[in-house]
Amino acid sequence: MLKRSWAVFMLALTTLPVGAAPTSIRVVSDNNYPPYLFIDADNNPRGYLVDEWALWEKKTGVKVDLIATDWSTAQKMLLAGDADVIDMMFETPARKLQYDFTAPYARVRVNIYVDASISGIDDVQSLKGFAVGVERGDACVERLARDGITNVQLFNGYTDMIAAVGHKDVRILCMDELPANYYLYKARGKASFSKSFEYYAGEFRRGVRKGDLATIALVEKGMKEITPQEREALRRRWMGQPVSFTPYAQVLGYALLVVGVIGVLLAIWVVTLRRAVSRRTKDLGFLSFHDALTGLPNRALLIDRLDHAIRLGQAETIAVLLIDLDHFSRIIESLGHACGDQLVKQVANRLTGSIEHIHTFARTSVDVFALVIQGDLTPAMIAATAEKVLRLVSQEIVLDGNRVFISASIGISAYPGDGNDGALLLKHAGAARSLARREGGGRFKFYRAALTANAQELIHMGAGLRRALQEDEFLLLYQPQIEISTGAVVGVEALLRWNLAGRLIGPDQFIPYAEETGLIEGIGDWVLQTACHQLAKWLRLGLPPMRVAVNLSPKQFANSALLDHVADALGAAGLPPELLELEITEGCFLQREASVLAFLDKLRETGVSLAIDDFGTGYSSLAYLRRFPVQILKIDKTFLTEIPGDRQAEALVSAIVVMARGLSLKVLAEGVENHAQWSFLKDIGCDLAQGWLLGAPMSAEAFMDWYKERSGRAEAKRAKTNSRNQKWRYVVTPVETNT
Ligand code: C2E
Ligand code: MG
Ligand code: MG
Repeated sequence: MLKRSWAVFMLALTTLPVGAAPTSIRVVSDNNYPPYLFIDADNNPRGYLVDEWALWEKKTGVKVDLIATDWSTAQKMLLAGDADVIDMMFETPARKLQYDFTAPYARVRVNIYVDASISGIDDVQSLKGFAVGVERGDACVERLARDGITNVQLFNGYTDMIAAVGHKDVRILCMDELPANYYLYKARGKASFSKSFEYYAGEFRRGVRKGDLATIALVEKGMKEITPQEREALRRRWMGQPVSFTPYAQVLGYALLVVGVIGVLLAIWVVTLRRAVSRRTKDLGFLSFHDALTGLPNRALLIDRLDHAIRLGQAETIAVLLIDLDHFSRIIESLGHACGDQLVKQVANRLTGSIEHIHTFARTSVDVFALVIQGDLTPAMIAATAEKVLRLVSQEIVLDGNRVFISASIGISAYPGDGNDGALLLKHAGAARSLARREGGGRFKFYRAALTANAQELIHMGAGLRRALQEDEFLLLYQPQIEISTGAVVGVEALLRWNLAGRLIGPDQFIPYAEETGLIEGIGDWVLQTACHQLAKWLRLGLPPMRVAVNLSPKQFANSALLDHVADALGAAGLPPELLELEITEGCFLQREASVLAFLDKLRETGVSLAIDDFGTGYSSLAYLRRFPVQILKIDKTFLTEIPGDRQAEALVSAIVVMARGLSLKVLAEGVENHAQWSFLKDIGCDLAQGWLLGAPMSAEAFMDWYKERSGRAEAKRAKTNSRNQKWRYVVTPVETNT
């Protein structure tokens, strides 16, 4: 043990400074830190430090090689032994492990600077969620990390950072105050930053590699020899000096007096001039944000408005449609610039006023317009707008008596998916526009290719569904609903089909499209009307009273016009409301609980009954069952597939039945396909059932035949057992069907 300590002591002795001062030292520091150190136009380092170290050199006789480089390289150089001193360094806990420091010589404020477009940043906690621009290797990185801000954008130096500010790539900066004043003032034309809050204050020190105490001592000694007068001269040279009254100012005063006298004489002229200038300035102000030909906003204003709209965060979707007129240059070549201008104006007029949801309509370059629409927009709605624009643009235009037809290539991007600032959205719309052009023009493309495919498909489907409505291609199938205890048919569920050229298409394949394209309202209304008519017709043909159940889409459910549609359908068919049942899914209850409740109450007041369809697949909550005026719970068929056999599914269905009974609701089990399921349901006291075992969905005519046949059989059976207790209801017994 003793031996080892001795060896360490010997080793320490050999590495101690030998006492002789070096003949030169290398000092390294940040080349981007005016007024302390920066690179002038001739590529020479200049600033307070250059002069200070020159004085130090004079005082100590030790030659100073001052190297100005970017801050992270400076640190690397020192640690790698390529420099002896690093200047302008803050002491931080992490740095203390690698460096030794001199006493502080200047205090520097470090502030957070924020772009004018951002508000609400006033302390470090409010920086959360934003990217903060910081110079690589800056003490601020460490400080931010300590405060839990890890989303930092690192730049190699303040110059890179300021360039990014110009491109709007960064909107929050952590910078030392002095260079910030310099750089942000310089960048004021491109960006408008202001100090948001003082983050912390640091103290400049000189650092050396850990343990190099000899250099520290040497540096401190030389610095102390610089006199206060010399320091004051340095400070005055680089940090500015108070304005003092000099003899020159006196001359200036006289000159001003003379100018003032002349000014009085010219007052009237000046006033007139000012008015003219103000008018012109207003014009120029307008013109700097508007296109002179059309008066539409220009690109700068467009980006500003987009940024503003995004910041407001009120719109679900903000879509940018970049509309590029195809072959515009050819028109100019053949008809001249005046005609080109006319064309642009006509297109602008045509589009203004013909498009819905417009937020901004701008002209971003000679032959390019940008249309911004916002709202609760689906890709299909955006695509429909693009189609409309294409249609409007392609209509005949008369230019100087010449009939001209043009087309456009449209690129679409949408917030939030494709970018969260105006410039980026425009860039992405531009990329999509190029794609549309490459494919021959006269078309639109979404920035995300998948959306294009999806939107095209939607448009195709939308057109098909519209036609289906007009040309009666929809039809309803009816599936019986059976009371389990008696086997009586108590109702039918109307299930929609699309007869597409002889092929029956199921609702799962087109209802989502109908919902997206907004056609669900018309289709849903048709279903209501047809189902009510059909039931009324059956009743007239002698079928006993039973209910017809109609499925509602959440989209229909959200619209108060539904109340009118229900009343109209019942009125037109002459059907009592209690024979109509509306099936709603749990999706309807997702939001707006209070308004849903009010709406359900209104529906219930009309006398119709309400059923919850596909119970158990959505956001089942017993709470809403208690509060909502529903009468029937339809257990989704997926539960039945596990029954009998799966203990858990059995327990669940039994529990639903018990719970529903407690709430005075009837339970209908969907998807009953076999006798075992039927027996199980009967055993647990489930009220109603529906499924292939009892009757598959069938056409209106087929249902009539089915009903008669089954009731005939039941009649015969009843006659046999001499039962007379079912006067108005026909009774069926479950049979296996092949459907
Ligand atoms: P849903 O309301 O749950 O309808 C029951 C679905 O189960 C029907 O499918 C029906 O044919 C099927 N089904 C009946 N019995 C059995 C069975 O024993 N086993 C199995 N595996 N399936 C059975 P469909 O007709 O394809 O309808 C699917 C969904 O489309 C419906 O589910 C309903 O949500 C929706 N839908 C149907 N018609 C309309 C409509 O007019 N408007 C709206 N908005 N949606 C509708
Ligand atoms: Mg249903
Ligand atoms: Mg269902």
